[in-house]
Amino acid sequence: MKTKNLSYLSLIALAAWGTTAAVAGLPRAVSLNDDQAAEIATTLAGLSLNSLGSSATDDQVASVPFFQASPAHVLSAALATLNQNDRGLANANLYEFVLLNEGEMPGLTVRETVTRLHLFLNAIRPEKLENAVIHPTVEAALNARALPAVSYANDLSYKGGVGGIGVETAPKIYLVLWGSQWKNNDPSGEVGILTNFYKGVGGSAWLNSVTQYHQGVPVGTYISSGGTAAGNQAGMLAGIWSDNSASAPAHPTQAQLAAEAVKAAAHFGNTSAKANASVQYIIATSHGNSASGFGTQYCAWHSYTSSSYGNIAYSNLPYLTDAGASCGAGFNGLGAKAGITMVAGHELGETITDQFPSGGWTDSTGAENGDKCAWISSGQGASANVTLSTGTFPVQSLWSNGYTGGAGGCVLSFP
Ligand SMILES: [Zn+2]
Repeated sequence: MKTKNLSYLSLIALAAWGTTAAVAGLPRAVSLNDDQAAEIATTLAGLSLNSLGSSATDDQVASVPFFQASPAHVLSAALATLNQNDRGLANANLYEFVLLNEGEMPGLTVRETVTRLHLFLNAIRPEKLENAVIHPTVEAALNARALPAVSYANDLSYKGGVGGIGVETAPKIYLVLWGSQWKNNDPSGEVGILTNFYKGVGGSAWLNSVTQYHQGVPVGTYISSGGTAAGNQAGMLAGIWSDNSASAPAHPTQAQLAAEAVKAAAHFGNTSAKANASVQYIIATSHGNSASGFGTQYCAWHSYTSSSYGNIAYSNLPYLTDAGASCGAGFNGLGAKAGITMVAGHELGETITDQFPSGGWTDSTGAENGDKCAWISSGQGASANVTLSTGTFPVQSLWSNGYTGGAGGCVLSFP
């Protein structure tokens, strides 16, 4: 590996900003080759930071378009650049930097993040060697081979919102038991199970992965710390309505389900776009009464409709045990009724992170955080029971962009 003429021009310019931030646990000094160093310098120079000068204020720095997503993009850009080439020592160092700092990253200002990166890179800068070829250390060689390439290619990204709304910042759930068919017709006890699940799910570690997804961030954002985060507060279940004065259609269409959601909005007094911005209506149909396609094409789905009360997010939640194993009965040994909360939880997490589909967070194929982790029976993200304050419930995992340093993965809890 050749190390010469390292270029740190843009890093040196950044150093003039100064900082009081401590860089803990700097690793041993290892070499960057000139290509790698140049890539980092080019990446950072591309941020147009140098032109701001050493007296730039935090506001000025934050006005650079690149930073309007989040400080974490400094790192992701540097990593992405390096990953396209040789996964060498510079990549290993940056990866280590991410691991060292990621816990604090959301709390850092733009300037602090950039300055930490600068100090880190400066500390590992080797002596300038002219026309020398080094033999890397055992550890450096192992690190370079072992570290995964961090790519966001499989992650969710922000799609820009619908009317500015992409996620539920303070989710509220309204459960609608639609139709007189519900009377004395709940052989699996779904109402009780759903009620307890929705009552206890807010604030749980299981649901907490939704909070890494924000709205008010640029389209295409993967890791966001700006804008407003999706919420995971306790007490999300805001109301239950047994709308059973008349029967629901035997096989309700999407338009009929949407109309029931609008009716529920009126029932609960949510009659403005603002009141419905962070609300979801679960339209649950009873045993033997479901929209066509249930159990063959799908287990549930969520959508939204425009209305005079603003956009209304709703889910079609059929009587899940009617579909048997196709919708989770007995899945992964979690019991005959496992599908009820596995599917309800799936739609809940998806609606919170993609309130009005698909203006929120989806991957490059259109999959949401629930879709990417549905029906996993072993290994990372396998479906399991989680215990909430209101009981123990089978759930699937949800996709976390932040898992494994940004590569993403399915998780049953999020710190
Ligand atoms: Zn889904």
